[in-house]
Amino acid sequence: MTDSLRLRVAVDAPQHTGLAAPLDYRSQRPLVPGTLVRVPLGKREVSGVVWADDRSEPQAGELREISLALDVLPPLGVHWRALVDFTAAYYQRGTGEIALSVLPPELRKLDNAQLANRIAKLRKSVAKADPGASDTATATETATASTPPALNPAQADALTRIEALAAAGTPPTVLLNGVTGSGKTEVYLGAAARALEAGQQALVLVPEINLTPQLEARFAERFAGRCIVSLHSALTPAQRLRSWLAAHLGLADLVLGTRLAVFASMPRLGLIVVDEEHDPSYKQQEGARYSARDLAVYRGRLENATVVLGSATPSLESWQRGIEGRYVRLDLPARIGDGALPRVRLVDMTQQPKSHGANTALSPPLVAALRERIAHGEQSLVFLNRRGYAPVLHCADCGWKSGCPHCSAWRVFHKLDRTLRCHHCGFTERVPRACPDCGNLDIAPIGRGTERLEEQLAEVLKDADGKPPRIARIDADSTRLKGALEAQLGAVHAGDVDVLVGTQMVTKGHDFRRVTLVAAVNPDSSLFSSDFRAPERLFALLMQAGGRAGRDAAHAARSEMWVQTWHPQHALYAALRTHDFGAFAAAQLKEREMAGLPPYSHLAILRADAHTTEAARAFLHAAAQLAATLPGADAVMLYPPVPLGVARVANVERMQMLVESASRVALQRLLALWLPELHALRRAPAEGAARILRWAVDVDPLSI
Ligand SMILES: [Zn+2]
Ligand SMILES: [Zn+2]
Repeated sequence: MTDSLRLRVAVDAPQHTGLAAPLDYRSQRPLVPGTLVRVPLGKREVSGVVWADDRSEPQAGELREISLALDVLPPLGVHWRALVDFTAAYYQRGTGEIALSVLPPELRKLDNAQLANRIAKLRKSVAKADPGASDTATATETATASTPPALNPAQADALTRIEALAAAGTPPTVLLNGVTGSGKTEVYLGAAARALEAGQQALVLVPEINLTPQLEARFAERFAGRCIVSLHSALTPAQRLRSWLAAHLGLADLVLGTRLAVFASMPRLGLIVVDEEHDPSYKQQEGARYSARDLAVYRGRLENATVVLGSATPSLESWQRGIEGRYVRLDLPARIGDGALPRVRLVDMTQQPKSHGANTALSPPLVAALRERIAHGEQSLVFLNRRGYAPVLHCADCGWKSGCPHCSAWRVFHKLDRTLRCHHCGFTERVPRACPDCGNLDIAPIGRGTERLEEQLAEVLKDADGKPPRIARIDADSTRLKGALEAQLGAVHAGDVDVLVGTQMVTKGHDFRRVTLVAAVNPDSSLFSSDFRAPERLFALLMQAGGRAGRDAAHAARSEMWVQTWHPQHALYAALRTHDFGAFAAAQLKEREMAGLPPYSHLAILRADAHTTEAARAFLHAAAQLAATLPGADAVMLYPPVPLGVARVANVERMQMLVESASRVALQRLLALWLPELHALRRAPAEGAARILRWAVDVDPLSI
């Protein structure tokens, strides 16, 4: 009989503390690994998770004692802890930092009695709702599950293959490559139905929060009587805790969510679906920069669960794994009802009449095509990846431009509220009446954003009586208010809109039945970007946008995708015209292989933020020198530090250094040795250098 036990606890400590590994604490009684606790750390009390119990007896007074064990909550499982361990190691963060950041924040506040109360309430409400146990408003106690529609041969074949592979003992990672409108969701639903019948839980990830209600409704309709919960950052803390508890306690059969849901604790997990697996939103862009898509694949292997990655334009990493046979690729080559894919029309802008004034953004043939759609009572979708009215205001007399005083960026002109807004730091001012430098009253916008495009469309599409068409705009500005997006989408679906204008926000997932024309006004800038992934993203965006047209089979034959370009001969557009993702991917992969870029090499970025460029550069130089002294440094290549695309944001200078290796293992090994040293380097900078504000590492960065 011992007086106390030694326990290893993953504590909630931010990265800059350098406390990456679990810490030792003393406990008067045994606690199972996975138990949530509160422990003293310095002068504070923080949350933690018991990570392992070490039966050796601590010396008296050697360790601090656990303050509270929240043991009314069943412990977090061994697989969940393994997922957190992997995430921490792979993305170079602290175990406790990851563990606590992916648990609902409410868990840090409640005591045992409060938590027991929440659990009891949840169990009661699930039992009461049964058989209509769904958490969604759409399900009712009398609801009956809808019958699945008949599958086309490709869908049926995909489902059979998934089932057969899972039954063979090794649940596969499937890359479901289906053109837009080919019915991928029906395959997800079928796979989920089988998992649920087998008594398992299913996890479905989507890239955007605003796509969850649509998907939730569809799953709720199919699985009426089942408990379905959603997990994303727009939930209130209480809702998030409730959903999380339902998953953790095994009450929820289906969990739908955005990237953070990949960490949902699910004791009976049998299936993970990652919809639009290529979407950059799956990569967390701050803190622990994890890829939820990649973690889903890892988690599937860990928990022996089937993973389905779906996309019309898979990431080249996933596509390559399909080629290598590491993923099982299943194709859905045709649209449901054999609807045609939209015809792609390229407008060669170099051949268009050069005129000054408002209409240069819209070529005469595109305007004519839009007019024709309006005349037929059909809808069009026009998109431009820039919000606001114009990206910059300019004084022609003295050359003044609306720069942001805090960033190396222009402030965007928003005409509706007459403001200049910085999209990087948020700095906002009223538009000056005159040029602040020379007093000239005639300051003018240059370029165009969605606000200006909306204005121009209203002008050029007026009917014979001078009446403008009905236009709706969807972008981050027009949808800021709660419910605004739903209202606008509702108007589009009701047919109260002729032309929908927006940023790429409108191209994602929405099922617009009456849209027969989609136009990209100015997509060229991505063709010659310094970021090697820009063409991949552009191709995915255009394919997805084009997929919004002709989703109603009756209109499919008339559906068109218009692209205005100054480079109509570009290979990317050639592949787009034939909807040939395979050809595009093959050409891109060849280029990447020759250039030694992912998936043929592995990258990380070390970033430093400081008050001056010199301090940031000095830190990265010193870090590079340090790396060179470490074992295994010869297998890894460090590039010279460069400023970020927008180097200064909110008066902080940002520099980055690319780290590359042909071997993922070699890169991981070096990062693990190197990064712990950087905490000390930040505290004690090199001779003569100023301290930096912070540093961060991004493993498998998505943009460089
Ligand atoms: Zn001026
Ligand atoms: Zn700014």
